[in-house]
Amino acid sequence: MDNCIFCKIIEGSIPSKKVYEDDRVFAFHDIQPQAPVHILIIPKKHFASLNDAGEDDWDTIGYIHKAAKQIAKEQGVAESGYRIVNNCGPDSGQIVFHLHMHLLAGEKLAGLGR
Ligand code: IMP
Repeated sequence: MDNCIFCKIIEGSIPSKKVYEDDRVFAFHDIQPQAPVHILIIPKKHFASLNDAGEDDWDTIGYIHKAAKQIAKEQGVAESGYRIVNNCGPDSGQIVFHLHMHLLAGEKLAGLGR
C-alpha cells in the first residue's frame, strides 16, 4: 500500500534488520527497542489493525504467532520467555497502521499493571 512504512520495509525500499521472512510474514528489529530483543512481525498483506482484519485474515494472524514461536527460538529467548503485544487504535498507542505484533524479550519484563 502506498505511504505505508511497513509495506515499504517488506518491498525493501526502506531498509530493515530482517530476522525472518516467508510467503506470508516478515519480521525485523524495531528501530526503537523497548527490550533487549524487540522484533516486529507483520503480515505481507496490508491491513491497518485487528479492527480491520477480514475473515480471510485470521489464519494469517494465527500464523504470525507460529512465526513468533520460531523467531523466539532463533533469538535464544524461547525458554527464558517473551511477550507478544499488539496495539490497536489510539488509546493503545498504535502509531503504524499496518498490523504488527511486537515480540519483546531478553530481560524480566515489567508487569502489565498501570
Ligand atoms: P505501534 O506503537 O504498535 O504502532 O508500534 C510501531 C513500532 O514501529 C514502534 O515500536 C516503532 O519504534 C517501530 N518503527 C517505526 N518505524 C520503524 C522502522 O522504520 N523500522 C523499524 N521499526 C520501526
